Amino acid sequence: MEYTDVLKFGGTSVGSAQRLQAVAELIARDGEPKVVVLSAMSGTTNSLVEITTCLYRAERQQALDVIQNMEINYLIVNSELFSTGEYTRRGQAFLQTIFTYLRSFVNKEFYPLQEKAIVAQGEIISTNLLQLYLEERGVPSTLLPALDYMRVDKDGEPDYFYIKQNLRRLLADPATAPLVITQGFICRNALGEIDNLKRGGSDYSAALVGAALAAREIQIWTDIDGVHDNDPRHVKNTRALRALSFDEAAELAYFGAKILHPSSVQPAKRANIPVRLKNTLNPADEGTLVSEASPARDFKAVAAKDGITAVKIKSSNMLLAYGFVRKVFEIFEAWKTPIDMIATSEVAISLTIDDTARLEHIVKDLERYGAIEIEHDLSIICVVGDFRAGHPGAVARPLHALREIPLRMVSYGASEHSVSLLVKQTDKQRALVALSDELFQDERS
Ligand code: ADP
Ligand code: ASP
Ligand code: MG
Repeated sequence: MEYTDVLKFGGTSVGSAQRLQAVAELIARDGEPKVVVLSAMSGTTNSLVEITTCLYRAERQQALDVIQNMEINYLIVNSELFSTGEYTRRGQAFLQTIFTYLRSFVNKEFYPLQEKAIVAQGEIISTNLLQLYLEERGVPSTLLPALDYMRVDKDGEPDYFYIKQNLRRLLADPATAPLVITQGFICRNALGEIDNLKRGGSDYSAALVGAALAAREIQIWTDIDGVHDNDPRHVKNTRALRALSFDEAAELAYFGAKILHPSSVQPAKRANIPVRLKNTLNPADEGTLVSEASPARDFKAVAAKDGITAVKIKSSNMLLAYGFVRKVFEIFEAWKTPIDMIATSEVAISLTIDDTARLEHIVKDLERYGAIEIEHDLSIICVVGDFRAGHPGAVARPLHALREIPLRMVSYGASEHSVSLLVKQTDKQRALVALSDELFQDERS
C-alpha cells in the first residue's frame, strides 16, 4: 500500500473528546491510505514539563497534584469520548497504566533521561485514545509507535536514512491498516533513548514522515486558517495567506510564527513536498500552501521572535584587521551558540543570540578582543517579501513604518525574502501593528 498523505493535528485540534471525534471523522471519511501524526492534547505537554520541574526540585507533593489533576481531566475526556461501556473501560485501563507510570517517578531519584520519558506521554495518550475510538467506531487503524522509527543522530539532527528505512519497513507489513496513527514530537536519540524534537516539534515529525514517504502533500491541521500576514496574538485584522515559498515559510517559522515549528520546512523543501496548513475548525477552507514557488509580492508577512540578546564587541584593534570576525565566530561555535543577526562596522561587531545558556563563557572569551556590551530582552522582527537587490526601495517602507520606534539593528541584503529588525521587546507590539498598518492596509481596504 502506498501512503501518500500525511496529516498532522496539533494540540487544540485534539484538545477535547469532541475534537478527537472530529479528527476521527475527518481522517476516516475517504478511506484513502494516510499517516496521521498527532500532538498531545493542548496543555498536556506543559503539565508534563511541570511535573519534571517539580521532580527536579524534589517537590514530590506538587508533582503528585499535577498528575492527579491531569488524571481527573483525562477521565472526563475518556467518559465523553467513548459511547460503550466496553471501550470506556478499556480507555480507563489504558489511562491507569499511564498515570501509574507517571507516579512511579515521584519517589525515585530524578535524572534527565526520565524527563524525556515523562514528556513523551502526552503524544502516547492522544494517539492511543484516538486509535481506541476509531476501533469503537469500527474503523480499522494501526497505531505505529514513533519510537520505532523516528530518530535523531548525535548532533540532534534527524537520521534520515534510519527514519526512511524503518518507517517504510513498518508500513509495508501486510497487517498495517490503510489508516495509520502515530505520535509527533517524540523520537529516539543516537543512543536509543527516548528523546523529542523540542517544543512544537510535531510539525517537524510530520515533515520528516512526509519526506521519508515521498508524500504527495504534508498537511498541518491547526486552529487557524493558515499562515497569517502577522501574528494574530498581537495584531488585529490579520489575514491568511494563500501561498508561500518554502524559504519564506522557513523564515517566518524561524522568526517566531508559532504556527510552524522552525525546523519543519526543511525536510519538505529537501524533498520538494508541498505543505498545506489547514484549519480543523473550518476544513473546507483551502488554507496556506507552502511550496517551491510562490508569486513574489512586495510584502507578504511579518513575524517576531522574543527573548533575543544582543552582544556587541568593540575593538579599536579591529581597524583594518583581517581574521577578527573569524575569531569572534569561533567563540560562538566553540560554545555551540547559534547567531541570528550580525552587523559590523570598522570598530565593532554586533550580533544576536537567543540561547544565553553559555553567555558567561562567551563573554569571558570575547573580552580578549575588546569591550563587550550585552543587552537582553530584545525582539527580532522579520518582514518577509521581495527584497531582491533588483527591487529598489523595498526596505524603505518597513523602515518608514518603524520611524518612531528605536531600532537596535537592521539586517538587509543577506536574504532575498526577508529583512530583520531588532527592537526592544517592549516595543514589539507597537512595531508589529505599525508594520501591518503600513504594509498590508491597502490589501484590506
Ligand atoms: P498547534 O497546537 O496546532 O501546533 P500552535 O499553537 O502551535 O498550534 O500554532 C497555531 C497558533 O500560532 C495560532 O493559533 C496563532 O495564534 C499562532 N500564530 C502565530 N503567528 C502566526 C501566523 N503568522 N499565522 C498564523 N498563526 C500564527
Ligand atoms: N506536544 C508538543 C508540545 O506541546 C509538541 C507539539 O505540540 O507539537 O510542544
Ligand atoms: Mg504547534
